[in-house]
Amino acid sequence: MLKFGQITVLAAVALLIIGVVDFFSEISPVLYIALLLLWLLIVALGSFTLRWGFFTTFITKGNQTEKQVAITFDDGPHPEYTLEILKLLKSYNAKATFFCIGKNLEKYPKIAQQLIADGHSLGNHSYSHATNFGFFRKKRIVEELAKTDVLLEKITGSKNVWFRPPYGVTNPSIAKAVKETNHNVVGWNVRSYDTVIKNPTKVVNRIKKRVSPNAIILLHDTHSRCPEIVERLLQFLKKEGYQTVTVERLLKKN
Ligand SMILES: [Zn+2]
Repeated sequence: MLKFGQITVLAAVALLIIGVVDFFSEISPVLYIALLLLWLLIVALGSFTLRWGFFTTFITKGNQTEKQVAITFDDGPHPEYTLEILKLLKSYNAKATFFCIGKNLEKYPKIAQQLIADGHSLGNHSYSHATNFGFFRKKRIVEELAKTDVLLEKITGSKNVWFRPPYGVTNPSIAKAVKETNHNVVGWNVRSYDTVIKNPTKVVNRIKKRVSPNAIILLHDTHSRCPEIVERLLQFLKKEGYQTVTVERLLKKN
C-alpha cells in the first residue's frame, strides 16, 4: 500500500499535469476539485486504516509459529473492571497487554502495579486521550508520551517502548512524534467494537470469527460488559488451543 508521502507526490504530479494541460487548452476547474477531494479521501482513510501503515509503521500482528494471540486492553486502568479482568486472566493463566492512559495511571497506580505483578505488560496510550488528540502538534504529542512514560517507568521499573495512539488514529504529527520518541506503535488486527456493540454475545462472536494465530485483539477494560466478554473469549481461546500472551511475547523472535 502506498504511503502518505507517495500519495502526496502523486497528487502533486497530477496537479502539475492538469495545470500544464489547462495552460494550453482550458479544462474544467472540477478536475482540480476532484483531485483535491480524492487526495483528502485517501488521507482520511489512511488515518484510520492501521494495516496500510499510511503514516507510520504499525504492528498489527505477531510472528510466532505456535498458536498464540495477544489480548490488548485500552483506556484503563479502571478501578472496578480492570481488577475483575485481572482475576479472569489469572484463572486462565493468560497474559495481556494494557495500553493505559497517563491520567488513569496517576489515579490508580496500585492497579497498574498489580498488572505488572501478575506478569502482564503495560503500554502508553497518551496522557489525556483527548478527543482532539488527532489535531495535536508534534511537540504536544511528544510531551504527552513522555509524561505517561515517566509514570509507566515508575510502575514497571523499565523504559517503555510501546505506544498505541488514542482512537488508533495516525497523521503526520503523530508519525513525526513517534519517530522522535522511538516508540513501537501497536495497532490490532481484530477490532471488537466492544464500546460500540452493547451485546456481549455479538462482540464475542465477532472476535471468534476473526481470530487467528498471531492476532492482536482490541478490547477496553473500561465498561461493565468487558469482564463477561473476556471470560467467554478466554473459554473459547482455551478450547481452540490458543495461548494468550503479551504483545511483547507475540512479537519475540523464536
Ligand atoms: Zn483509547
